[in-house]
Amino acid sequence: IFHVFRAEQKFADHMKEKNEASSEFAKKKTLLEQRQYLPIFAVRQQLLNIIRDNNIVIVVGETGSGKTTQLTQYLHEDGYTSYGMVGCTQPRRVAAMSVAKRVSEEMNSNLGEEVGYAIRFEDCTSEKTVIKYMTDGILLRESLRESDLDHYSAVIMDEAHERSLNTDVLFGLLQEVVSRRSDLKLIVTSATMDSDKFAGFFGNVPIFNIPGRTFPVDILFSKVPQEDYVEAAVKQALQIHLSGMMGDILIFMPGQEDIEVRRFFTSLLQPQCNMRLEDLENAPPLAVLPIYSQLPSDLQAKIFQKAPDGVRKCIVATNIAETSLTVDGIMFVVDAGYCKLKVFNPRIGMDALQVYPISQANANQRAGRAGRTGPGQCYRLYTQSAFKNEMLTTTIPEIQRTNLANVVLLLKSLGVQDLLLFHFMDPPPEDNMLNSMYQLWILGALDNTGALTPTGRLMVEFPLDPALSKMLIVSCDMGCSADILIIVSMLSVPSIFYRPKVPSVHCSDQVREKFSVPESDHLTYLNVYLQWKNNNYSSIWCNDHFIHTKAMRKVREVRAQLKDIMVQQKINLVSCGSDWDVIRKCICAAYFHQAAKLKGIGEYVNVRTGMPCHLHPTSALFGMGYTPDYIIYHELVMTTKEYMQCVTAVDGEWLAELGPMFYSIKHAGKSRQVSNILPEYHTQHIQCAFVTLDHKTSHKGQFL
Ligand code: ADP
Ligand code: MG
Repeated sequence: IFHVFRAEQKFADHMKEKNEASSEFAKKKTLLEQRQYLPIFAVRQQLLNIIRDNNIVIVVGETGSGKTTQLTQYLHEDGYTSYGMVGCTQPRRVAAMSVAKRVSEEMNSNLGEEVGYAIRFEDCTSEKTVIKYMTDGILLRESLRESDLDHYSAVIMDEAHERSLNTDVLFGLLQEVVSRRSDLKLIVTSATMDSDKFAGFFGNVPIFNIPGRTFPVDILFSKVPQEDYVEAAVKQALQIHLSGMMGDILIFMPGQEDIEVRRFFTSLLQPQCNMRLEDLENAPPLAVLPIYSQLPSDLQAKIFQKAPDGVRKCIVATNIAETSLTVDGIMFVVDAGYCKLKVFNPRIGMDALQVYPISQANANQRAGRAGRTGPGQCYRLYTQSAFKNEMLTTTIPEIQRTNLANVVLLLKSLGVQDLLLFHFMDPPPEDNMLNSMYQLWILGALDNTGALTPTGRLMVEFPLDPALSKMLIVSCDMGCSADILIIVSMLSVPSIFYRPKVPSVHCSDQVREKFSVPESDHLTYLNVYLQWKNNNYSSIWCNDHFIHTKAMRKVREVRAQLKDIMVQQKINLVSCGSDWDVIRKCICAAYFHQAAKLKGIGEYVNVRTGMPCHLHPTSALFGMGYTPDYIIYHELVMTTKEYMQCVTAVDGEWLAELGPMFYSIKHAGKSRQVSNILPEYHTQHIQCAFVTLDHKTSHKGQFL
């Protein structure tokens, strides 16, 4: 571990010197040279010709060929930005930010001026912006305001092979926009060969292939299945590192928790890992650099910097480095074989982020990362038979596996009446669609005919999950909108609390208890924010209390943005003062469908399904001896068990009052109990109703 840190320091010093030394001119020249070395540069004019002659073009090219960074600039250089912006969508926030930064450097301008980006709750563009990178979700929301996307002269839908939910919806919408606007160029890019499908979808449009420049990659499979992929990856990385072979290493892990430098370092030090870096005298320095979506952007930028001579880079990434981000100089790939996917879980009635084996297509993309600058090697920490027999050829598109409530809301508000007839490349399973509509009906966003209600219309205005929007909307009438606004903002920013790197784990937990409101994690969040505010939004105060200052600043920004929307929508800001029961009831009004009931000591079961679920150890209610009869939860996290994350105690009577479609109060002797009134019954009937209504026959009310 000593070596690792020493290397990091050396690395940082080196970068500082290098940046100071390089004159602006030299930097510009090398960037230009780099641009001209990319495979796409050789076909620049052909590409521009085919785009000039066609409204829609599919562009296929290996990862790293220059699609994302160069296409926008070529269109700009060719004059397209004289009558509108060139927009480029990304399925991932990190990619949008990182690429925008790179392109602004290549164009020698400040980020946010000519080249900018927009992701949810963060708009880094200005009047000057002509090239705009954004998440696909942002463009989707823009199409709500401006259905013909008049601000754009060209839209590049990047990373189409990822088949993200929003990209899939954009396919259908943009195709219509292009048919209305003959001056709009639509370019769909993909790193893989499923381009025929895209071309067919848009009506046999041309496909342009960027000739690649790749080197052979040796693929080595594990002989036996690996039990602990983190440990296996650490061992493999060390073996490569000590072998004397040159070149940087890229390791694919499923999620942030595995990558968190600490976990990785801890593994480096574990006694059972028989090759500990610490014990190895004269081991050459290794710079371990993590990259995942929640990593602060200054640290993200590190992966692209060249390591000083003699220091090997070892990047530990999620599948973000599979196609969205390309790092030069990688010779070795270590692939754990897993990724995290959001999948609708019918058992819990909602999406759950879970670890799944990757597909063969993912595996091949990952291997390809080792062959960009020279011949490489890919170590797969799974067996050849697992690859052949257990992995799907390609990943199932998100639209076929996740909750579609937001998409339904959006399409309904765009006037798409019959969702089952919308032009999807791969239509979602009907059950998914109907289930999402059912969830929106529960929240009062759709009426009995499946049409958008005034509440639903209002919900669309917020860039939030439906239940969170609902909570904001009802909070006004309940007299606690100012408080709920803070809670919603806190829930929209990940990881507020942190544990200190080395010592005194207890200490941070104790400090954290200071904020705990025993009956609610939501109120605990409110408490943290209010205390921070009372301390003049101080960063010292944050540090003293093991709270991420940056995260809190983000919360404040999110709050300001949501407040603007509330003001626009004439939702008054009122606080309930110290009567926090009102807040709990308001949370219940939007989350009654996610309720759990106490069963035995500290054990909960879902009220609707009877499925056992557990308090998360980070909950304010955990281990406090106070176990309320009923709680609602913000989300379920599935690890070894089903954990409820962010919970609040509620009254059983509130559940019956606010969620009458699920619960009623049973009078058993003197005690009163909330019971489940067969949600299946409703589900079936509502589903029938929506099916008929989507085919335009009205059966209003018959099923309720
Ligand atoms: P593609 O989209 O075809 O996968 P890109 O346009 O993303 O290719 O990448 C082209 C080149 O730009 C790559 O060599 C990559 O390393 C480099 N690059 C992209 N983003 C950055 C960045 N933020 N910093 C440094 N180099 C970058
Ligand atoms: Mg790209």
